[in-house]
Amino acid sequence: MTKNKQAQEDHNIKEDAVATDSEINKIQMTRRSTSRVLNSVKTMEGEGLVVNRSLPNNREFDPFLLLDEFGPLELAPGKVGGVPAHPHRGFETVTYMLDGRFEHKDSQGHSGKLNPGDVQWMTAGSGVVHSEMPEKEFARTGGRLHGFQLWVNLPKGDKMVEPRYQEIPSSLIPVAKNSDGRVTVKIIAGEALGNRAVIDTRTPIMYLHFMLQPNGEIVQHVPKDYNAFAYVINGVGYFGKNEQSAQRGQMVIFARDGEELSIRAPADATTSPLDVLLLAGVPLKEPIVQYGPFVMNTSEEIYQAIEDYRSGKIGRSAQL
Ligand code: MN
Repeated sequence: MTKNKQAQEDHNIKEDAVATDSEINKIQMTRRSTSRVLNSVKTMEGEGLVVNRSLPNNREFDPFLLLDEFGPLELAPGKVGGVPAHPHRGFETVTYMLDGRFEHKDSQGHSGKLNPGDVQWMTAGSGVVHSEMPEKEFARTGGRLHGFQLWVNLPKGDKMVEPRYQEIPSSLIPVAKNSDGRVTVKIIAGEALGNRAVIDTRTPIMYLHFMLQPNGEIVQHVPKDYNAFAYVINGVGYFGKNEQSAQRGQMVIFARDGEELSIRAPADATTSPLDVLLLAGVPLKEPIVQYGPFVMNTSEEIYQAIEDYRSGKIGRSAQL
């Protein structure tokens, strides 16, 4: 903890004038520490889409399977990559655009556009075949591309539910500010600063986009049994009660040792805001068998998914 930070906490405690030693101990007990920091890894996805991948295939991240950041990149006209027709079964994909425009089509005739700030929450369930490509005009002109795709696993009993889309334009995503105005949050899933998301999720999770001005700090309640992670989109910040520092492109893993997470922006930020995605979810603790875009509980279910895809039961690429 820095001197400033300690002084600020002392000041807050004096102002309240009611904090006792046991209350201070309680803060130390309930505030989570961080367990480690991972660097994201650059990889290619689909046709020419460069992504930063920050959740390796590791059960520690349960219920999340993957987080890909596409961009940020300035793309030349005609050089915007995308992901042509492919299937999914057994989990949810959540696409959050920051810059650029994508469009989505599936073999059932569903389509939608994603503009900056929009979120598409797709419950693949029993299966979809879809394409995720740059919107035509954006592909033609090029420009800045930046966004995220998160894969959230589904519990055993929900893996074969009917596919469902929740498409939320930016204007409908709740935005809240903290009392000193230094922290803004977009609430994609879960709750923050007294506001609740409009998306409902099968697996209970939190998906929060925090933007912190210099000296901004947020303490977010997260149930004790949730796994929790923070991905730094921009800037440098301090995480957890051990004030672990992390910077752009890094993923902070929190220990499950409390019910509150803290994120703090330094006073002397050279790049601001500190831009962070906070992800947390209750671990499913079920067996995972993954074959590319199929995530099931047993090998038999994976063979079935491959068979259903080959025989066209999930949908046909030719229809896209
Ligand atoms: Mn997909």
